[in-house]
Amino acid sequence: MIPDELAREMESHPAVGPVFKRLLLELERADDARSLERVRIDYLGRKGAINALLQDIRNLPAEERREVGRLLNLLKSRLEQELEIRLERIRERELEESLRLQKLDVTLPGRHIPYGTRHLISTIIEQIEDIFLGLGYRVVEGPEVELDYYNFEALNTPEWHPSKSLQDTFYVEVPGGNYRDVLLRTHTSPVQVRVMESTPPPLYVIAPGKAYRHDVPDATHSPIFHQVEGLVVDEDISLGDLKGTLENFARRMFGEDRRVRFRPHFFPFTEPSAEVDVSCNMCGGDGCRVCKWTGWLEILGAGMVDPNVFSYVGYDPERWSGFAFGMGVERIALLKYGVPDIRYFYDNDLRLLRQF
Ligand SMILES: [Zn+2]
Repeated sequence: MIPDELAREMESHPAVGPVFKRLLLELERADDARSLERVRIDYLGRKGAINALLQDIRNLPAEERREVGRLLNLLKSRLEQELEIRLERIRERELEESLRLQKLDVTLPGRHIPYGTRHLISTIIEQIEDIFLGLGYRVVEGPEVELDYYNFEALNTPEWHPSKSLQDTFYVEVPGGNYRDVLLRTHTSPVQVRVMESTPPPLYVIAPGKAYRHDVPDATHSPIFHQVEGLVVDEDISLGDLKGTLENFARRMFGEDRRVRFRPHFFPFTEPSAEVDVSCNMCGGDGCRVCKWTGWLEILGAGMVDPNVFSYVGYDPERWSGFAFGMGVERIALLKYGVPDIRYFYDNDLRLLRQF
C-alpha cells in the first residue's frame, strides 16, 4: 500500500510507528467488507487513530510537527486508496463465489417426463362424434350390462336367432334371476330402444360404447370391442336420407373423394337392411391388400327402422319413420390407418400407441 521506503520511515517513526504497525496487522486480517469498514472507522474516522495523532501534533516539539503532519497526511490518503482497492477486490470475490454457488449448467439434459396420448380408439370415437354433432345429433349412452329385452327382444330379434346362442353371448348370472335374462350387450343397439322409450320423436342420436361377444381373439375379432350406433326418427325419413348421411360420414372420415355403396343384407330390426361399403382409402378403389382387391371396404350395417321396433316403444309407425346404423370403431381404425391386427389396440404396446 505504501512504497517500501516510506513504509520503513513510518514504521521507525516514534510517534507514527506503533499506530502504523497495528494498522498493517489489522488490514491483513480484514477479509470481508465489514471488517474493512471497521478499519476505516478506527483509523480514518473523526475519532480515529490518525486524527488522534494529528491532534497530538501540537504537543510535539516544533521541529517534529511538520514531519509528523506530512507522514500522517500521506498515510491518510494512501489508506483511503488502499481500503477502496481491497473493498473492490472483496466484492469481486463475493460475486464470483455467489455465481459459483448458483451456477446452472444449461447443457445438462432435462428430466424426461413421459406424457400420455389419447388411445386411437378414443380418438376415432371422438372423430365420429364430431361429425354427427355437426349434423345436429346428440350423443347418448346406455348400460353395458343389459337385459335380454333391450339387447334382443325389443330389437325384433326372434328367440331362434343365432346371435342369442351361448356361443355368441356372455350371460350374467343374477341371484334369483331367470337364466339368460341379463347379459353383456352384444351391440350398442339396445341404447336405441332405451332412448326411444324415454324420448318422443323426432330423434337424432348416436350411441358410442363397448360391446361384448364370445369371440376367440384373432386379427379381426376381440371379445370386447367398440361400436357407434346411430338412430334417426322423424317424419318422411327415406333411404335417400340414410344414404346421404352415410356418404357425408364416409367422406369426412376417410377422405373427400370416397364413394359409398349399399349391399342388401338382413338385420332383425331394420327393413330394408344393407351393408355399407366405402371405396378403399388405401388404393382409391383400384384394389389392394387392405380391401382384398375389391376396391371396397365394408364399414357398417344400416337400414330403415322396422315398424315392429316402433311398436315396442310406443311410436306411431304411420307417422314416424327412421333409419339406424352401427359401425365397429376398431374396424374403422384398422381401415383408416392400415393397422393389420385388432389385437394391437389392446396390447398397450408403446410402439403402436406413440404413433397416434
Ligand atoms: Zn384398396
